[in-house]
Amino acid sequence: MKQCTMCKKEYDENAEQSQYAEAGEWLAEEVWKDSGELCHLCLENRARLVMMYHHEYNS
Ligand SMILES: [Zn+2]
Repeated sequence: MKQCTMCKKEYDENAEQSQYAEAGEWLAEEVWKDSGELCHLCLENRARLVMMYHHEYNS
């Protein structure tokens, strides 16, 4: 188990991911440089926000 740096919850990094979590992981690697530190829920939430408000990351 790892601890998420955003919500401080423990999470299973090998758990199955949704499409949003996968997008969030890509953003973590390419944009925020904190890949592997956030739980899937936080990755998902961030990806959703980005898709709603930051259309420049959609390409
Ligand atoms: Zn989290």
